[in-house]
Amino acid sequence: MVPERTDTDEFKAQAAEFAAKLGDQKRVLVTTHISPDGDAVASMLSASEILRQLDSDAICCLPDRVPRRYDFLPGADRIIETADLNDKDWDRILVVDSGNLSRIGDLANRISPETPLVNVDHHIDNERFGELNVVYPEAASTTEILFDLIQTLHLSIPDNLATLIYAGLFTDTGGFRFPNTTERTFSIAARMVRHGANPNDIAEAVYASNSPTSMRLLGKALSSLELTENGCLATMTVEQDNSAEEMEDLADYGLAIKGVRAAALFRLEGESVRVSLRGRGTVDVSRVARRFGGGGHTKAAGFTIKGDYDKLRSQVIAALNEEIGR
Ligand code: 5GP
Ligand code: MN
Repeated sequence: MVPERTDTDEFKAQAAEFAAKLGDQKRVLVTTHISPDGDAVASMLSASEILRQLDSDAICCLPDRVPRRYDFLPGADRIIETADLNDKDWDRILVVDSGNLSRIGDLANRISPETPLVNVDHHIDNERFGELNVVYPEAASTTEILFDLIQTLHLSIPDNLATLIYAGLFTDTGGFRFPNTTERTFSIAARMVRHGANPNDIAEAVYASNSPTSMRLLGKALSSLELTENGCLATMTVEQDNSAEEMEDLADYGLAIKGVRAAALFRLEGESVRVSLRGRGTVDVSRVARRFGGGGHTKAAGFTIKGDYDKLRSQVIAALNEEIGR
């Protein structure tokens, strides 16, 4: 049997260093990636609770507004937007669920290079940008790694923390559907339920709390659906101004069609195009995203680029087609 991550000497040493670097009354700025998903927000808030138990103060800061579907997460009301952050004096920075520093947005320009930085993440392309890097790509979510830290450091799991850990696992596995869902995912999820996480409440908040506007956006995206490459590739396009409501899992609908192996969603936002890629089976869309300057996971990746949409679309289709054929 493969030893549990928490049983390895490497992980125990990392947990001890995590507590030494971030505990004991330090002022810690906790942040995550732009366009935050459920795991990003849940990880940030879990980290804040962990730091509280380690006798430190956490300030949670996001480059964007908290997406409405995640504002049910316990503690979400205490998140500050980067633009409203006056303070510059932090003892430490903790970045969760972000593969590199440019993904944290404008905040990257506001933190002093002297401030020690800790990086907790599960992205395969993580750039190990911290003084301490607790990075495990095989973890289903970043909250799974935070759970391991909680266990190793013998911290307690009140119901708010259980909800956060569960929510990160739930959202990053697409509701326990994606290939990163393992026995371990369910085992941790079950423990979180024992500690007070409510699966139905969390599922309803994540998947059944859309606004009419975002459902209409879904309708527009679906009517733009095109299948190419003998039905292996699905593409959708929506025009979206910055004030428009976001529907984060729009890109997943391309993969809901039988036979589709890769899907791309193009969001036209003024001069730039934000592209979300999804893959199934052996298709690795993170390779495609990296070719366009982005990144992500093998089954969900993305990038943002300026330029001509029609040209970009055929380039992305060609690249995905190449990946499908590998
Ligand atoms: P989404 O398509 O939902 O916006 O993003 C899917 C995944 O791709 C997320 O895990 C996200 O971290 C990653 N991703 C999206 N856009 C970018 C990008 O511009 N750069 C990098 N490195 N990763 C991205
Ligand atoms: Mn994640």
